[in-house]
Amino acid sequence: GLQVTEAVEWMKRINEKIHINKEYLTSLDQPIGDGDHGINMARGFQEVSNKITMENYENVADLLKDVAMTLMSKVGGASGPLFGTAFLKMSLVAKGSDTINHDNITRMLEEAVNGVKQRGKAVEGEKTLIDVWSPMVEYFKRVDRFKAGEIAGEAKKAMENTKDIMATKGRAAYFKEKSIGHIDPGAATSFYMFEALSEVIK
Ligand code: ADP
Ligand code: MG
Ligand code: MG
Repeated sequence: GLQVTEAVEWMKRINEKIHINKEYLTSLDQPIGDGDHGINMARGFQEVSNKITMENYENVADLLKDVAMTLMSKVGGASGPLFGTAFLKMSLVAKGSDTINHDNITRMLEEAVNGVKQRGKAVEGEKTLIDVWSPMVEYFKRVDRFKAGEIAGEAKKAMENTKDIMATKGRAAYFKEKSIGHIDPGAATSFYMFEALSEVIK
């Protein structure tokens, strides 16, 4: 499951991974964007880490809500409101559940991807972070137990599959056919989020 301790650890690990890979994430955003994705996410998750370290949370819903609000207000790019929406939707689902098990997590992720789709008016196959989140929802639905190694592997595969897609949403869409052959930056950040999740959920 995912309780407050694990959720705090999840955010700290996302922050660490994003900082370690900040240059890499930015380099992904250079050929098909404006080269700020690593900077945007590092700033956002540093703020998230600061915020959640100052608070004492009684439940996962309150924590995820702070994560969402921080990302929405501190990240300049398109990714801020989109990841913010994902964590806000997760928070709303968590609010109605006293203990967060496999089924709740699956529902949290499903609501997250629905929220992102609505907010960004995008669907699967447009070379965005949705192309990691959506296959992950399918994966969580397919299995009945968490297998840490599998989660990270599935997320990595989904991230790599974004290479073959032509972008039709966000800045990358301006590059049309030239966007093919590159991993989507938001998909790479999403991979780190799922890899971090796989390290903390029990
Ligand atoms: P910006 O494009 O404003 O500079 P970032 O570089 O931080 O913002 O984030 C770019 C990422 O945001 C993309 O790689 C993609 O995954 C995601 N993205 C952009 N537009 C959309 C959208 N409409 N729906 C879903 N994700 C999107
Ligand atoms: Mg950018
Ligand atoms: Mg930008």
